[in-house]
Amino acid sequence: MSADTSPIRIRRRGLMLVLSSPSGAGKSTIARNLLETDPGLELSVSVTTRPRRGSEIDGVHYHFQTQREFDRLRDSDALLEWAEVHGNCYATPREPAEAALVDGRDMLFDIDWQGAAQLREKMPVDIVSIFILPPSMRELRERLKRRAEDQDAVIDARLKNARDEIEHWRDYDYVVINDDLDRSFAEVRSIVTAERLRRDRRPGLFDFVSGLLDEKAG
Ligand code: ADP
Ligand code: 5GP
Repeated sequence: MSADTSPIRIRRRGLMLVLSSPSGAGKSTIARNLLETDPGLELSVSVTTRPRRGSEIDGVHYHFQTQREFDRLRDSDALLEWAEVHGNCYATPREPAEAALVDGRDMLFDIDWQGAAQLREKMPVDIVSIFILPPSMRELRERLKRRAEDQDAVIDARLKNARDEIEHWRDYDYVVINDDLDRSFAEVRSIVTAERLRRDRRPGLFDFVSGLLDEKAG
């Protein structure tokens, strides 16, 4: 179990921070900012059968696998959840996520609504879920084009799927509209800070408070 980041260290459970959004809304950008500024948060690196983009590194952004290897992992129960998104398979490896929970480390999951639903069912207490919305569909298209890492046909498929993904916004604990990036980032950080302070995640408070009550005020 990890300790709080405040100077007084209180034992607490780790949390599983799930970020979902339609493709292009800015979820990976927000996730990257969070990971760079919060050393207490680590990324769950997914397995995918999607081709690697030019900017991506195998083992850092994803574990890129063949369909055959993906099927083998799924059939051997090595995946905590899996889903087909835009015609490719994506999954969360089981072992690193379960180990993080046991150690009380916080983990970030950049996964779609289908994966979020599976994790919510398996680990309802540990999941904190945030849905990122674009400010408009027009801006979503612009961001997908600006990212310029996918072919036009792929962008069209992602826009078509965006509506289906957005339909699931109600299943999430929090919703952030990613208009101004700095503000969205600050909002997500506030959510993480507040969730870390939840009483039921901090069993160490029992010892802390009994120590307080035993202490002579002087
Ligand atoms: P996702 O992970 O949701 O598919 P990305 O994080 O890759 O989306 O963002 C898509 C594109 O939009 C990227 O080029 C990113 O730099 C840009 N972007 C992200 N957030 C904003 C924002 N608030 N305003 C303008 N552009 C943004
Ligand atoms: P991309 O191809 O743009 O990296 O991701 C496409 C979609 O797949 C995004 O919505 C992303 O969140 C989702 N995704 C990435 N990894 C996983 C995963 O492990 N499981 C599930 N269910 N979805 C994932």
